[in-house]
Amino acid sequence: MLDAARNLKAVRDRIAEAARENGRAAEDIGLVAVSKTFDAEAIRPVIKAGQRVFGENRVQEAQAKWPALKEEHPDIELHLIGPLQSNKAKDAVALFDVMQTVDREKIAGALAAEMAKQGRRPRLYVQVNTGLEGQKAGIDPREAASFVARCRETHGLGIEGLMCIPPLDENPGPHFALLEKIAREAGVAKLSMGMSADFETAIAFGATSVRVGSAIFGARD
Ligand SMILES: *Cc1c(COP(=O)(O)O)cnc(C)c1O
Repeated sequence: MLDAARNLKAVRDRIAEAARENGRAAEDIGLVAVSKTFDAEAIRPVIKAGQRVFGENRVQEAQAKWPALKEEHPDIELHLIGPLQSNKAKDAVALFDVMQTVDREKIAGALAAEMAKQGRRPRLYVQVNTGLEGQKAGIDPREAASFVARCRETHGLGIEGLMCIPPLDENPGPHFALLEKIAREAGVAKLSMGMSADFETAIAFGATSVRVGSAIFGARD
């Protein structure tokens, strides 16, 4: 087995084990394989090993490699996990199946307009800046539930989940707990939380999907 395929299996085994330890079903926890910075040649073995859900953080980078891969494998589901600019809404709606980073009114409006125009309805998550970090994308946790309501009522967007990236230097547990609490308040079912370093913790706090890059593809430059 190639490295990435072996790594994928190891990550799947760890997800199953964390699910078992927390009395959850492994099938209830999705794995988004984060392929940012890796090219199609590095991604193909992971597809071959059965993975179908992938995440990218830049629209332009994803446009360069995913249309061809999606043509080869129409059942691939591509998630945008990086910040979205409203001038990229058109390209993003055309390419992605799920967008996890809706975090402000302007983006919500731009996505709603593009979705109507293109007749495509990617599934949407709202990103929450649980650590209130100045440089990080995501809505203020205190405004998250009302923002979800505005997305639904004003823009007609079906928000299916919340996503967070805890501060690097903090214990992630309280951030995952906060995201879970906001999701309950906002009436949102899905929780995208947990990366290579902390996905087992995220599963303990209720993650319904984890976003794992380096543990599958190896270290990025
Ligand atoms: C890069 C990235 C990941 C994956 O990070 P790893 O530590 O490599 O698993 C997950 N989520 C987001 C938003 C990312 O940008």
